[in-house]
Amino acid sequence: MTSAPPQPVSSAVDALNRVFGYPSFRGQQGDIVEHVIAGGDALVLMPTGGGKSLCYQIPALVRPGTGVVISPLIALMQDQVDALRTLGVRAGFLNSSQDYDERRLVEAEFVAGELDLLYVAPEGLGTAGVQRLLDRGKISLFAIDEAHCVAQWGHDFRPDYLSLSMLHERWPDVPRIALTATATPATRDEIATRLRLTDARHFTASFDRPNIQYRIVGKNSPAKQLLDLLRTEHAGDSGIVYCLSRASVEKHAEFLSEHGIPALPYHAGLDSRTRAANQSRFLREDGLVMVATIAFGMGIDKPDVRFVAHLDLPKSVEGYYQETGRAGRDGLPSTAWLAYGLQDVVQQRKMIDSSEGDLTFRRNAGRHLDAMLALCESVTCRRAQILEYFGQTSVPETCGNCDTCLSPPESWDGTVPAQKLLSTVFRLQKERNQKFGAGQSIDILLGKRTDKVSRFRHDELTVFGIGADLKEAEWRGVVRQLLAGGFLSVEGEHGTLTLTDRSGEVLRGERKLLMRREVATPRTARTSSRG
Ligand code: ADP
Ligand code: ZN
Repeated sequence: MTSAPPQPVSSAVDALNRVFGYPSFRGQQGDIVEHVIAGGDALVLMPTGGGKSLCYQIPALVRPGTGVVISPLIALMQDQVDALRTLGVRAGFLNSSQDYDERRLVEAEFVAGELDLLYVAPEGLGTAGVQRLLDRGKISLFAIDEAHCVAQWGHDFRPDYLSLSMLHERWPDVPRIALTATATPATRDEIATRLRLTDARHFTASFDRPNIQYRIVGKNSPAKQLLDLLRTEHAGDSGIVYCLSRASVEKHAEFLSEHGIPALPYHAGLDSRTRAANQSRFLREDGLVMVATIAFGMGIDKPDVRFVAHLDLPKSVEGYYQETGRAGRDGLPSTAWLAYGLQDVVQQRKMIDSSEGDLTFRRNAGRHLDAMLALCESVTCRRAQILEYFGQTSVPETCGNCDTCLSPPESWDGTVPAQKLLSTVFRLQKERNQKFGAGQSIDILLGKRTDKVSRFRHDELTVFGIGADLKEAEWRGVVRQLLAGGFLSVEGEHGTLTLTDRSGEVLRGERKLLMRREVATPRTARTSSRG
């Protein structure tokens, strides 16, 4: 690697104009940059596409020494460094993908003070070798990118991030700036505590992504629903389709390709060459659809991703927000579409119950899932719900660009059906001491004399047939909404329905339940037009 000629900058604005070619700072960038240049610590919460990189790149150019950037995105370091070098920024990286000679060269550049920015992987920083190397050069700042990776209950937790608390002890005079696009108040506090950012100034940008249209639909035949969406609204567009399992990724990538939509798979089970090749095609070519597990996407900077579709329920609102946030970084209208059904709830609960985590972990995972379910079942503005979840105050009640705002769901009073369902679960659980899933309770309410109903003499229960006024799909909606509200839970391998501490509130009539009306074909609502 050869370094470009040094390009001394006189000030932050000079660097912004001359090196990056932008006329002005965006949002809080200017304040953040100024604070870090003055030597202050910062914790920056900004949505994807908000412009976090400049917040540490510019201080690194202005302050004497090298800015050390800790990033978990090893696969992207080469691209990031190449992009900086094209701008004349002297950048290098150290990670496990390099051979000995490449490493030595970068190390020598760093020690000689010839680098503005040095990207390192978190696992490298924990090693004595890298720490001694850093002692031999001059560090202008530490930037901790994707700082939410330090949050233990988060979906991107990386154990190596925990050791980053030592930065402050070892280099107490070097300012640190931690950045993330994940930002519930709880995650923010955890980042500050674990990274010992006690005196850091917090900068929180608005998390609203007004150009993203949020839509959550009932799942009946997901592959076909997805195909409809792509054909009617996103023909020729680039997008990402998230699936829970590798098998489902493969299946849906094939399905789309067979139906004339160019699609590539991406998941951790593919060898690294295929993964890298698919990723780079997605970044460079137009109109490709990436069908992927959540292993794909962090740090991907593709401005014109027009849609993010979820075929399975994300585990948390944080995950959902981050994944959908990969759409529309260029600010143009984009779609975040999620298909979700009762089976998703049962499956996710099962995964939590059978996870190896301890009780605290399971409780946390359960809470995250509950919040996601509440978002799905909401009859009010999705955007308002998301922003409130992220602790944003003064959120308008309606946004005009989500499914519930564009075609307000009919709601109906589901209190009585909910009581019928809970009574059925009560009879099975408490009176008969039997374990059954949602299907059996619904069959009982509908008055279906299935083999299983006859075998267990469930047709003798007083609740048998008392719910024939509703359709099966409506009953599934009732179950989902009871689960989402915590008035019912599913347990164990077979998804046994169980009463909770809060079931009584509904049974005693203290709680009214507003239900979303089930629509046979999810309507599509799209007002924004694209040029
Ligand atoms: P993040 O890391 O927060 O997701 P990036 O740092 O990748 O966001 O920035 C997103 C996009 O916005 C990039 O293409 C970047 O060049 C552009 N950008 C950032 N700051 C500015 C600015 N002040 N003016 C114009 N474009 C900017
Ligand atoms: Zn809305």
